[in-house]
Amino acid sequence: MDYRSLPKALLHDHLDGGVRVDTILELADRFGYTGLPSGTTEGLTEWFDQGRSGSLERYLEAFTHTVAVMRDQDSIRRIAYEAGMDLAADGVVYAEIRFGPSLHMIHGMTREAAIEAVLDGLSAAHRETGIVLYGIVSALRHETDSVEVVRAAIPYLDRGLIAFDLAGPEAGFPADDHLPACRLAREAGLGLTIHAGEADSAASIWRAVARCGATRVGHGVRIADETDFDGERITTLESLARRIRDHRIPLEVSITSNLDTSAFPSVREHPFGALYRSGFNVTINTDNRLMSRVGVSDEYRLASETFDLGPADLAEITVNAIEAGFGDWPTRRRIIDELVRPAYASVASNQEAISEST
Ligand SMILES: [Zn+2]
Repeated sequence: MDYRSLPKALLHDHLDGGVRVDTILELADRFGYTGLPSGTTEGLTEWFDQGRSGSLERYLEAFTHTVAVMRDQDSIRRIAYEAGMDLAADGVVYAEIRFGPSLHMIHGMTREAAIEAVLDGLSAAHRETGIVLYGIVSALRHETDSVEVVRAAIPYLDRGLIAFDLAGPEAGFPADDHLPACRLAREAGLGLTIHAGEADSAASIWRAVARCGATRVGHGVRIADETDFDGERITTLESLARRIRDHRIPLEVSITSNLDTSAFPSVREHPFGALYRSGFNVTINTDNRLMSRVGVSDEYRLASETFDLGPADLAEITVNAIEAGFGDWPTRRRIIDELVRPAYASVASNQEAISEST
């Protein structure tokens, strides 16, 4: 399968985790930022590629360097534009990109200025390539400004900003500490997705869904702990897992990112394939393209080759992802009907023709 040319969807991708290395170098030069661990494309690419180091410190340090060059509206607009262009070149047709508008306040920017710059960059990439892009604002669970983040986001609801997310350290920082922000977001009409069940237990997923009202979950892979997943398949489900499956809660799974943070020892032991086959609404995501050195095509390939997923499976996963999106429904419907279904059906019929002729 030519994964790059297949139309793909992306629900979980952090803007500051997907900056081009050359852009970081150029902007660092422009802003006089001298903190980069390397001054060359190769050196910096190597450094950002966290591999399976499992070092959270180094992982977090990586974001300090990308945020350090997101200092003004021009740099943020450029980074958002390039993210959209890179995704379009990788065959992504629908993407929701998340970012933390508060992160740029250390450079004297307002949250609103950061939001405007991201949305400007995304719409420029849309105009140039046709890729459908939306923004999601993230607040950090260990900070106390989640309500302010939602307030800043609300005026941009019909201008490309569609949802609110809680990110940051999961263990010890329960999502329901941010109930007021979650409620405000939902009442204003923002979609709600929460990172849960990545580093903490499956109970954290239920807290995000049942208490905070998240209709989507970032990662959510620890739900496998509430099943009898034996490393290959799932036969019985505890009630919590059953609810997540039966309510069709979309899980924004990022396989490579999970391996990088050592959530699972090897890709074979990752529950993505088992969850999919048991009927969970799993989607394929990159999380941080720079730190995990992956594109969406790479993740599709990894899922497909590891868990033996054919074009019909990838079509279903892609359709599920677009249906789980928060953007304009007629647009998403059109993408599903005119781009996604025909492309995967044609790959499937080509494969059939090849297997019949051999
Ligand atoms: Zn994430």
